[in-house]
Parts: sequence; C-alpha cells; structure tokens
Amino acid sequence: LFLTNERHHLRVAVDAPQHSGLSGCLDYSSAQALEPGTLVSVPFGQRQVCGIVWRGEPQELGDIAIKPVSQVLYVLPALSERWCKLAQFAASYYQRSLGEMALSVLPPELRKLDNSQLENRLVRLHKNLAPLEVSTPITPPELNLEQATIVAQLDTLNITGTSSVVLLHGLTGSGKTEVYLRAAEQALAKGQQVLVLVPEINLTPQLEARFMERFSGGSTPRRIVSLHSGLSPAQRLKNWLTAHLGLADLVLGTRLAVFASMPRLGLIVVDEEHDPSYKQQEGARYSARDLAVYRGKLESACVLLGSATPSLESWHRANESRYVRLTLPTRVGGGALPKVRLIDMGVLPKVKGGDTSLTPPLVAALAQRIERSEQSLIFLNRRGYSPVLHCMACTWKSGCPYCSAWRVFHKLDRTLRCHHCGFAQPVPRACPDCGNPDIAAIGQGTERLEELLSAALPGARIARIDADSTQKKGALETQLASVHSGEVDILVGTQMVTKGHDFRRMTLVAAVNPDGALFSSDFRAPERLFAMLMQAAGRAGRSAEQAERSEMWIQTWFPKHPLYAALCEHDYNAFAASQLNERKIAGLPPFTHLGLLRAEAKTADAARAFLQTAAEILSQFPGADQLLVYPAVPTAVARVANIERMQMLIEGSSRVVLQRVLTSWMASLPALRRQHKGILRWALDVDPLAI
Ligand code: ADP
Ligand code: ZN
Ligand code: ZN
Repeated sequence: LFLTNERHHLRVAVDAPQHSGLSGCLDYSSAQALEPGTLVSVPFGQRQVCGIVWRGEPQELGDIAIKPVSQVLYVLPALSERWCKLAQFAASYYQRSLGEMALSVLPPELRKLDNSQLENRLVRLHKNLAPLEVSTPITPPELNLEQATIVAQLDTLNITGTSSVVLLHGLTGSGKTEVYLRAAEQALAKGQQVLVLVPEINLTPQLEARFMERFSGGSTPRRIVSLHSGLSPAQRLKNWLTAHLGLADLVLGTRLAVFASMPRLGLIVVDEEHDPSYKQQEGARYSARDLAVYRGKLESACVLLGSATPSLESWHRANESRYVRLTLPTRVGGGALPKVRLIDMGVLPKVKGGDTSLTPPLVAALAQRIERSEQSLIFLNRRGYSPVLHCMACTWKSGCPYCSAWRVFHKLDRTLRCHHCGFAQPVPRACPDCGNPDIAAIGQGTERLEELLSAALPGARIARIDADSTQKKGALETQLASVHSGEVDILVGTQMVTKGHDFRRMTLVAAVNPDGALFSSDFRAPERLFAMLMQAAGRAGRSAEQAERSEMWIQTWFPKHPLYAALCEHDYNAFAASQLNERKIAGLPPFTHLGLLRAEAKTADAARAFLQTAAEILSQFPGADQLLVYPAVPTAVARVANIERMQMLIEGSSRVVLQRVLTSWMASLPALRRQHKGILRWALDVDPLAI
C-alpha cells in the first residue's frame, strides 16, 4: 500500500433544505479520488448525512479546513453520470436545491445505511432473488394491422439510434398496452432495461400482471420489479437496488420511479401520459412525464407516451413534429365506443326537493340494464352524502369554521366533515344559529346517490367506490372483484372508478353532474373533464356484442356546449384543436410558460404583502420585462385549517427567460421570507397544473 498525505477535494451533494440558502454542493476531502455518483456519508452540522459525490471543481477555500468524508459506500456502484444529469436538470428546472432533489429521490432507507448494513442487504438480496425460470412461452396475440405498423415504426426509430418521443394516441381498448409489450420486447432483446410509468398505485398490479405474464417466463425470462410509495421501505430499497445493479430488466412504477437508477435503460413508457398524478404536488414539484422525456434524451432511449386524451402540451408538440404521433384508431375486437347521449336537464320536469341527479329517464335506463343482466356505472365527482346542509329558517349553512369551504354531510356516521382540513363533528340536531330543527341537505354526493338508487330500484345490487368506501387496505380490490364477478348491478363512484378498470359487462355509463368544470377559473378544467369523460366512456362496451347497445349519458344543463359536442363524436382531435386555439388567443400554456408562487400565512394580508414584495424584487431582474406577473389572488379554497393561502402567477413566452429570472428570484426569496415573519410556508411551482 502506497500512502501519501495528499488529500482529494470533492464536491458532495447533500440534502440542504431549500430555505437554508445552500443551493448546490458542499466541499469535502477524501484520501482516495472518488468517482462522481459515489454515495458517501459526510458530517453536516452536528449530523452524519448521506451525500453523492458530484462532478465539478471544488471552490477555492484558501486556508479554511475542509472536513473529510466519513465513509465511502464502496459496496454500491456509483450512480451513472446520466442519472446525475437528470437530478441536476430536475433541480434547476423546478428551482430546488441540487442536494435536496438528488437525495430526496433515492429510497429513504438507502440514506440511513452504512457500508456493513448495506453489504448485508446486498447479500440478502442476492440470496433471496427469485430465480428466473424458463418455461413454455405464452403466445402473444397477433397484432392487427395498425399495431403492427406502429411496432415496425418504433423498431425503425430505435434502430436509427436517435432518441425519439412517440405519442401513442389510442382509445381505451385500442391495444396500446399490447404495443408497450412489443416495444418492451424489442428493447429487452437488445439487452436494455425498460421503465414503465403508470399514474396511480392501484393501477400497478394490473399492468404488472400483464408484463409478468408476458416476460417472467419463456425462453429468456426477465426480472420485473415495481417502485411506488405503497411499498415498505425495505421492499422499496430492495427493488431500487435490483434495478440499480442491473438485475431487474423491467421497472414498473408511479412518478417517483422516473428517478430509478437503471444502467442499461433503453425504453421509457408513460401510460396515461395526460394524468395529473404525474405531477408531484409537494416538495420538488416535478412532472414525471416531462422528466421522462428529458431522461430519454439523456439516455438516448425511446420514450413512448400513451393516452386516449393526450395532454395538450404533448399534443401541441406532436403538432409541431417534435414528437412522433402514432394513432390506434379502433378498439381491438370490434368493440365500439358507447353512443353518447346528452340529457338536457333544462327540459326535464322539475323534481320536488331538487333531487335532480337521478332523473326518471336514467332510472328507467338502469332498470332496463338490470333486466338484461348488464351493469351500469354512475359517475359523480363528489363523495359524501350531501355537499352542504342548510337551515330552512335562517341563513345557516354547514361551513367549516377553519376553511373557506362547506363541510360535507356524511350520513353513514352522521358527521359533518371538512374534506380540506378533516375537521369532523356530529350533525347538529337543530340549527346551531336559530334552533330550528328543520335542516335540509343541498346537492348530492355519492353516498346520497347510492341511497336514492336503492329507493328507486328496490332489489338492485349497488356498490359504491370512493375515497370513503376504500379506506381499508384491500377494500378497493374486494369491491372491484365483486363488480367483475357480476355481483353488482350498479356501481356508483367518483373518478376513482373511471381509471383503467376493464368491466366486461358494463353497458351504461352515466355522468350525472359534470357541468361544474365547464366554468371553472382553472383553464385546464375543460381538458381534465374531457379526459375524464372519455375515460369513463371507455369503461363501457369493451366486448363487441355489448358495444352495440352501450351508452354513455351526460346529464347537463348545457347540452350545446362544444366540449359535449366533441365528446358525442368521440372527437379528441376536434376538442384539442379548439382548446389549443383558445389557449393561443389567451396566451396560455402550451403557448406560454408558467410559474406559480404560493404563500401561506395566518392572515391574507401577510400572504399578499409577501407576494407583492416578491413581485417587486422580480421586476428588477434582467428579462423580467418579458414576463407578465399577475396580481396575488386567493387560491381556490383560500383558507384551510385557519391558514390563508394566496398565489401569484408569472407567465412568459420564453421558457429560457422565465427559467433565468426564476433562478435569480429564488435566490432572494429565503431572505425575503425572513423579513415577512407572518409567512408560514411558501413554494414555487414551475409548470403548475392546478391554478
Ligand atoms: P389499451 O391499453 O389501449 O386499453 P389493450 O392493449 O389493453 O388496450 O387491449 C385491449 C384488449 O385487447 C386486451 O384484453 C388485449 O389483450 C387485447 N388485445 C390487444 N391487442 C390485441 C390483438 N392484436 N389481438 C387480440 N387481442 C388484442
Ligand atoms: Zn337556522
Ligand atoms: Zn376545514
């Protein structure tokens, strides 16, 4: 062994919170030179923390003593340079500190372990690794002409070796997943790893089952792991390590899996790419879909974005030929989309008591389905019994004392519950203001709809699926299974039921009260509504013999609205064209780019003052004249748990200019916050989804 006194200076990314003002890496010393991407343990304040050796020149610190690295996690291969670049990009694009970004996306368990603990984990991992067993290969379905054409095109794109982004547009049931499977097969055959992203945890088992069936056996069996927040910390670490060590060929997961370390990544699939769940809503507010596209470029990997209703951002890029658009125009096996019927609420006779959701024609249609042993789905995006209770004598309504929102009446346990802060109380026997015992419910939630249905259709087997009915672990699976096995005639639910589930016997889907989103202050509300209704429609008519008589009903007060007209024709293209035209005229994304600064304080004035001063600071940075800063306004639900929330939108036509200004701005906000004592929390959201 050759010993010298020479010390190597290193940059190390550590998780310093954004508000600490430390944005990048810290300097440490080490006896050996360390490859960038190596995990280390370093002293940080009074603690030992996990860090990642980062590329870059250490700062000139003169005589200041640099602390040595405490431990090098040499048992693990370093994170790749491409992985580091992804983390670096995500940090700078979403305006977070590099260390926070890079470390927060590692499995939390990994950050706690030292060399010997990690070594133990690795030994156990290798020992318990399920062996790959060769078996008789299953025969995949023969591709239809459209699928075959697309798979051939993907192969050509892949052979040219340039990374490309493909937007796969196809209805529910048009065979997109089969295309993913074939694309994966091509990549796997080349020895590459495949990453598949899905929007929600409860969709992972279904997709995992299809990938397992196709790839876990055969002549070259593959290893498949999942990554999502529902795994235990130990399981998540194990799966992450399996991917990092290159032992897993396929990684399936939710948005956090976009950061999985995969040394041979060759294909990224983003299923339901339009889904808002791809955007992280706290901490580093990244979009996994957008990062997947960036990662594809870094890794020279093909990115496959699939949806029946692509996000307008992706659609616009395809229009500009930045993405390759491939279309699957028909449902496999001849299943047609259900016929859409608009039920004009304006011409129906008024019902006493205002119970308008369950209209007589709908009851008749449901009865008919039951007679034919078919199933129906009723979709209402509001859980609970009734969104508000009110007194018939005075003006009392069931407001939340801590939020600017109504408390929802839940009849099952007779509580008034706030869906924003969780505050719950037993329902009062009489009006708390005037003592009048006559308290009435206004409006409907899923719970009440379920009750009305039982009354209108005695003997009907009704199930309800929403956040309340699925709280217990496994409840959702049990309920879905009973729908699949035919034990349910009518399924009532929130948007939870519209995603991904393939109900074979469903011939009627009804949206009973979808109008709200047409007039929302959020410019994306129509896009979300259209996607949701298309997705709901996709639940019906999945088998050819039922397609004929399948229907989707929309009960609306605005039957002439262009959104519903496009829906009747199942015409996403027309809807997208008209929305993009509106966005262009209004100067909204994807034609402009947005940042949103949010502030929370005890009073609205304190929050506003912070945002206004922040706006003044912003105006002084070069490039600010090319941005539009909107006045600070309260958020949609302005007060939650007695905290006032305000937001301020910043808009720019150049992403580069917006980015540059935001970066300078972010550096000055921690100091500003210290001057504004009343501010409890603040955050910047780049490319915000909900406004
Ligand atoms: P999507 O992902 O667009 O909803 P899927 O790929 O799940 O569509 O296909 C819908 C159904 O049709 C699935 O049951 C699938 O197994 C089947 N399928 C897909 N492609 C074919 C094909 N070429 N031949 C026969 N069945 C197919
Ligand atoms: Zn009263
Ligand atoms: Zn509340």
